[in-house]
Amino acid sequence: MTEFLIHSKRCFIDHQFTEATLHIKNNKIHNIHLGYHDAVTIPFLDYNNLIVMPGIIDAHVHINEPGREDWEGFDTATKAAAIGGVTTLIEMPLNASPVTTNIKSFLLKQDASKGKLHVNCGFYGGVIPTNKKDIEDLIKAGVFGIKGFLSHSGIDEFPNVSKLDLEAIAPILKQYDMPLLLHCELTDDDVPEVTNPKSYQEYLHSRPQHWETNAIDLAIAIQEKFDIKVHIVHLSASEGIERIKKRKKETNKLTVETCPHYLYFNAEAIPDESPIFKCAPPIREKANNNKLWDFLLDDGFNFLASDHSPAPPERKQLESGDFFKAWGGISGLQFTLPVLFSEGQKRGLQTEKLIPLLTKKPAEFLGIDDKKGDLAVGFDADITIWDDTEEFTISEDSIQHQHKATPYLNEAVFGKVIHTFVNGVQVVENSTLKTLQQGQLLLKDR
Ligand SMILES: [Zn+2]
Repeated sequence: MTEFLIHSKRCFIDHQFTEATLHIKNNKIHNIHLGYHDAVTIPFLDYNNLIVMPGIIDAHVHINEPGREDWEGFDTATKAAAIGGVTTLIEMPLNASPVTTNIKSFLLKQDASKGKLHVNCGFYGGVIPTNKKDIEDLIKAGVFGIKGFLSHSGIDEFPNVSKLDLEAIAPILKQYDMPLLLHCELTDDDVPEVTNPKSYQEYLHSRPQHWETNAIDLAIAIQEKFDIKVHIVHLSASEGIERIKKRKKETNKLTVETCPHYLYFNAEAIPDESPIFKCAPPIREKANNNKLWDFLLDDGFNFLASDHSPAPPERKQLESGDFFKAWGGISGLQFTLPVLFSEGQKRGLQTEKLIPLLTKKPAEFLGIDDKKGDLAVGFDADITIWDDTEEFTISEDSIQHQHKATPYLNEAVFGKVIHTFVNGVQVVENSTLKTLQQGQLLLKDR
């Protein structure tokens, strides 16, 4: 079916819901008719009152293939994405092995993804202390950004960089207008001694807010000094907000994201011995997270992303309950929409405001907003159709991730994805995978 019509009373077009009929032809949105527009010769899919919106673009995902495909792989991750209404994702330079820090490993990763992409997938490259010479090649080969850590990444082959390392590559990033994505935690010894590694409160206090704010200061200083694009990934510390706000008033080259788990869970409710909740920076107290919400409602975040970073149950130390030995990473790629929609409803987040944070805004950050992130004529027909009215419980059998362990298990949420279209092909029908291998490998145009 290369040509068909999609009708709904609630299509998200031009920042608002409106009755429309989308004419899909040859993988693109060929035309948009406002209102009900039937045609005798073309198949007509009537979705009545379901929300029809551009496909979700998740700009922060760890897939881990090749090398650690027992953690997560392209096949399972992109199936989960499709079921979750994510039609495009951008994959991080770790935790695959080898890590994506040179052209050879980038090509290996592209090879590993062949035949396994059920949604569109692009990539970031990584900066480590020893690969300055590789950065330009990675950029020319089509990465969407360069990611670095300011503290230990958890992967020994991906050491953290210093200010000097970043200053050394800044002119290259400037030349290509390439964003530098930074994991902002700067470790120091100003933390309490650990007496019980199974205590969530002790884990939380082991990664204090000032680690994040010190790193954010460094990120802003580099952004300002070199006038480059710097993106702060997964902000958790609300004490970082004021300095980010201040710099954002002066430039649009500083950007910031946060993730569903920082907005949905609160430290007070996380039990001891439950490293399924471990991530870095950590999920903080409710009072902190309320401020993240205020920042979100105030248009402070550029976009929202899952930071899906799963690991096998043994690595997550699910048996021992030891937060300090466990892998830090939350598995949740599939649940971004229902989690944010459900919590957003309680927080007064309008759906009209949530949708761009998952679609148009990440597209702008990635520089693909001329073809993705919007329901507009000529755009790729990446479309997510969902039900905002019926509550459902996240159950193990619905999870497409390689490992079922996720802190979202058994949560009751609203916002079920019913149908997903990738490049004009229906990949999910009635919340079930229908057509596989429709994703394209995305390389940034140079
Ligand atoms: Zn990450």
